[in-house]
Amino acid sequence: MFDSVIIGGGPAAMSAALNLKIRNKNFIILAGNEKVTGLSKAPSIENYLGIKNISGKDLLSTFEEHLDNMGIEKKNEMAYNILSMGDYFAVNAGNNFYDARTLIIATGKAKNNLIEGEEKYLGMGVGYCATCDGPLYRNKAVAIVSENEEGEEEARFLSEICSKVYYLPLYKSNFQEFNNVSVVKGKPKSVIGNGSKITSLSTSEGNIDVDAVFFIRNVLPVNQLLEGLELDDGSIKVNRTMATSISGVYACGDCAGKPFQISKAVGEGSIAALSAVKYIDSNMEVKL
Ligand SMILES: Cc1cc2nc3c(=O)[nH]c(=O)nc-3n(C[C@H](O)[C@H](O)[C@H](O)COP(=O)(O)OP(=O)(O)OC[C@H]3O[C@@H](n4cnc5c(N)ncnc54)[C@H](O)[C@@H]3O)c2cc1C
Repeated sequence: MFDSVIIGGGPAAMSAALNLKIRNKNFIILAGNEKVTGLSKAPSIENYLGIKNISGKDLLSTFEEHLDNMGIEKKNEMAYNILSMGDYFAVNAGNNFYDARTLIIATGKAKNNLIEGEEKYLGMGVGYCATCDGPLYRNKAVAIVSENEEGEEEARFLSEICSKVYYLPLYKSNFQEFNNVSVVKGKPKSVIGNGSKITSLSTSEGNIDVDAVFFIRNVLPVNQLLEGLELDDGSIKVNRTMATSISGVYACGDCAGKPFQISKAVGEGSIAALSAVKYIDSNMEVKL
């Protein structure tokens, strides 16, 4: 029986692991089958304190090196299902089951309803955070495909720095065109590129020539991982201790909501681990 199973392989999971290790807890990290996280595709990161400019790949290597130095290993296994067994949890990772008193979920943002080419061009024009990556497309044409009204805020922001913004609302929207922003009523079909960067977005109304497409999504299928996990606006509902609606289960990073940023993921990973430690040591839920 582990003290904790950490599910995820990104900054939130690694930060949680570091803190559990320092607190001498017995845990494993199920980091998924993917060799890379979305972050590894980030061309340039400029908003992580203390590091002026670094690629996502190099920042991840720095994190990995830290874990290696601490003797922490990640398992490249995907958690498919978790069963609540009363006072512990059984995590199904394919052929393996891992029992633990606590869970730390750090699975990152939802990746369902992807359109063709979206995953392939992630970091090569496809992005999920216009605030983070918008400045890379200064004076260029971009599209925003949004499942909710938050995309409108992103469109306003991008209209200030990009030459043209196409807004595709996938919800009932009254968003008005203004300045260099056009509203496209069609549905996105595929992201088209030349292998190294995107060139256009194919929609049911025709092709739009763009250098970037930002997808603003709101569905997180993570509640299918563990029955009873409450969501809030598509993300796992947490309190300030990163406790979820299920006792002994903590969530951190992108799966616990916005902003989708590395510094938040790292901070929350550390809080989730410390809360799990308190829970393990006292077997009582941490009070706010
Ligand atoms: C192209 C790009 C550019 C970005 N640029 C910036 C930037 O400049 N600044 C910034 O602050 N942020 C940036 N971000 C956002 C940043 O990468 C995320 O906010 C951060 O990585 C979130 O960390 P996380 O650990 O919560 O999730 P992730 O980094 O998404 O990691 C989640 C991990 O969990 C794994 N996983 C998922 N489900 C399971 C499962 N069931 N079992 C096991 N493992 C699972 C996934 O494979 C993945 O490895 C960028 C993101 C992208 C994609």
